[in-house]
Amino acid sequence: MASYPGKLKLILQGFSEAAMAAHAIHPLVHPDQALHFEYSTTKGVPVG
Ligand SMILES: Cc1cc2nc3c(=O)[nH]c(=O)nc-3n(C[C@H](O)[C@H](O)[C@H](O)COP(=O)(O)OP(=O)(O)OC[C@H]3O[C@@H](n4cnc5c(N)ncnc54)[C@H](O)[C@@H]3O)c2cc1C
Repeated sequence: MASYPGKLKLILQGFSEAAMAAHAIHPLVHPDQALHFEYSTTKGVPVG
């Protein structure tokens, strides 16, 4: 659905655009909630 000049049509690019879209739409869907951006490793990584 995302199309622009110079786009690399890769699976990796699709994941990036999905994350950017979710980030961009959050204030429209939840205007009263602050977005707390976190990484999957924010709460630590599993220990073997
Ligand atoms: C034959 C082929 C081989 C490929 N091989 C590779 C590869 O080896 N490695 C690689 O990295 N990439 C490869 N690609 C590219 C990769 O498949 C795409 O870049 C990737 O799937 C794009 O993901 P996407 O989620 O952005 O878009 P898409 O996978 O196209 O998903 C978009 C979705 O939105 C839906 N949609 C569209 N319009 C609307 C609408 N108005 N309302 C609601 N839904 C809508 C569509 O039905 C679709 O489900 C290949 C592509 C093809 C065609």
